[in-house]
Amino acid sequence: MIEEDGKFKGFCIDILDEIAAKMNFKYTIYKVADNQYGTEDENGTWNGMIRELIEKKADLAISALTINFKRQQVVDFTKPFISLGISIIYKIPTSKKPGLFSFLNPLSLEVWIYTLVSLIMMVLARFSPYEWRNTHPCNMNNEFVENQFTAWNSLWFAVGTLMQQGSDINPKAFSTRLVGGVWWFFTLIIISSYTANLAAFLTVEKVDIPISSVEDLANQSKIGYGLFKGGSTMNFFKESRIDTYKRMWKYMQNNPDVAFVSSNKEGIDRVLARDYAYLMESTFIDFVVQRNCNLTQIGGLLDSKGYGIATQLGSPYTDDISLKILEMQEKGDIQKFYNRWWKGGGTCVRDEKKDSKANPLNVENVGGIFVVLVAGVILAIVVALFEFIYYARKNASTIRVKK
Ligand code: ASP
Repeated sequence: MIEEDGKFKGFCIDILDEIAAKMNFKYTIYKVADNQYGTEDENGTWNGMIRELIEKKADLAISALTINFKRQQVVDFTKPFISLGISIIYKIPTSKKPGLFSFLNPLSLEVWIYTLVSLIMMVLARFSPYEWRNTHPCNMNNEFVENQFTAWNSLWFAVGTLMQQGSDINPKAFSTRLVGGVWWFFTLIIISSYTANLAAFLTVEKVDIPISSVEDLANQSKIGYGLFKGGSTMNFFKESRIDTYKRMWKYMQNNPDVAFVSSNKEGIDRVLARDYAYLMESTFIDFVVQRNCNLTQIGGLLDSKGYGIATQLGSPYTDDISLKILEMQEKGDIQKFYNRWWKGGGTCVRDEKKDSKANPLNVENVGGIFVVLVAGVILAIVVALFEFIYYARKNASTIRVKK
């Protein structure tokens, strides 16, 4: 409900106008001085709109006034005109772009380690007597034999086949061929699984969701949370016998400065300004998330209830107003008012197309493989330099000896 130049307008006013027209009455509206919906304190005294009805100062109270057990004992309620539940409003989780080395993510760290360790398995070939061959096959008297599977060659064979490139060293003995065959099968499955997962890991942005339900919120202590002080939402947590909610209520009582706010606006401002989750009725959440694209609802509804028009206890108007509400609901009037006030104006259009479209891979996505390439080339240059120096030194000493 909004007040402009002393005139009220909004969803509730549309409903009230319609009821007034149907029942043929006139009304004057005033706002309660304490700006409260109505709660009972320890002494049994009520405040807010409920108090106005108890003290018979007003005939009706219409607002986002939730029908609940305590209130129903001191005032009458009409049938609910809208249903809702408590939920969490929180900032839209930020999504992280894939990192430079996201090409490693298709396989978990363990699998990478196991794969590298299995490279060593190929050294087995050294032990087969059938891998030892005459170095000069034409000379049967030659006593020298050699094994092509030196540790270094075995590693080259294993890396070559793992990378699906093959190698010119091939096993000859039955045992080594068996190892080779099994190894090729292993590499086939590992590489296929890696390829199948790769595209997704390079492109999909990971969403950082610190909480996705009320249980997550209750089980952590980093994100502060709270609710409107003195409303039915607070009463829900106060009275609940469910463990999670009892724990949350305890936290709120121990941290009143963090937990209790004096208006929903203050709660939403906190959500926007810091790491804060606010427990609010779904009607308000729907309204806010359609107007502020940085906010979203987390998880489902914690309960299910409705807003009703409150009347004095024993009021003669309650049943008639209930009838009118049912009629308006069946005819779709209430839905019409809802659409007018909730959907109209400032609707936040979320960019859903973004995910369904295939984007080309850019440097951010595949940068890591270039890093590997450049690092490999630099390492190769350094090693080549060492090889050159080593070879030159060795030759120099031979030449010196010969002299
Ligand atoms: N609608 C609520 C009430 O009637 C306010 C709230 O607690 O969110 O008290």
